Amino acid sequence: MPEGKIIKALSGFYYVLSDDGIVQCRGRGVFRINNISPLVGDIVSFQAENDKEGYIMDVKERKNELVRPPIANIDQAILVFSASEPAFSPALLDRFLVIVEAANVMPIICITKKDLLEDEQEINQYMEDYRSFGYDVMMLSSTTREGIEQLKPFINGKTSVFAGQSGVGKSSLLNVLNPELNLKTDEISTHLGRGKHTTRHVELIEIAGGLVADTPGFSSLEFTGIEEEDLAHYFPEMSRISGKCKFRGCIHINEPKCAVKSSVESEEIPLYRYDHYKQFMEEIKGRKPRY
Ligand code: GDP
Ligand code: ZN
Repeated sequence: MPEGKIIKALSGFYYVLSDDGIVQCRGRGVFRINNISPLVGDIVSFQAENDKEGYIMDVKERKNELVRPPIANIDQAILVFSASEPAFSPALLDRFLVIVEAANVMPIICITKKDLLEDEQEINQYMEDYRSFGYDVMMLSSTTREGIEQLKPFINGKTSVFAGQSGVGKSSLLNVLNPELNLKTDEISTHLGRGKHTTRHVELIEIAGGLVADTPGFSSLEFTGIEEEDLAHYFPEMSRISGKCKFRGCIHINEPKCAVKSSVESEEIPLYRYDHYKQFMEEIKGRKPRY
């Protein structure tokens, strides 16, 4: 039975991208019985009625699932941050990194508006830091197109969602990546930016050999479902050395002989990262009911 990926869901139809093009499918009643609701991003097998129409027969197990927008099997989140206007915020970046990794999605850090920077020294230091933690980091400009090419190989063959606060340049970037979208520019910028409160279904669009969600992901930046002892997992430079802490289950706050705190003191881990870690920990602790 042929397989494909749902790229759009509309009025009871699922548009499945398969090797033979896009097939418009209906779900079988079995979905209602099993309470499975196919999502955009789902890998499905379908029975073809003809070249263009068919029935979804089975939905493959999801590797992850976002609620807003409702989308499954995201390979990566391209975290868009501007170098300037608004100013680059490592605190917000760290928050995104934790939330994206906790959702089992791989983050890629993409810094936009390079053309607005007069002095690149500070941002270069941050880029070096984040690379040393293990992340892919790039800087580009949608206005001058400098650096755009380096993003394309990351998108190729993957399903991506863009994330980042409003005004950082997500829609501009999508338009530069896929000039054919220009016809729909207004629509896209509405989806990605100003119109984010309007109800709309997400759609995967083909860009640079990959699929990209036309609606940004991770609009809620709360640490829902993340426990105190999980937090360090999402700070790779900390989780890498946590085995050296004296106490098993060390959460690197008040424990003695903590390898993470030692590394912060010796400046192997930048202080701003540890400060954010502590802030997030407070937030997670504050969420719990107090007796
Ligand atoms: P979004 O809300 O994240 O989708 O951001 P937009 O793509 O709508 O961009 C917000 C503003 O930043 C717009 O005025 C864009 O023209 C501008 N912008 C986006 N990318 C760049 C860039 O690389 N350089 C400069 N100078 N401005 C940019
Ligand atoms: Zn520790």
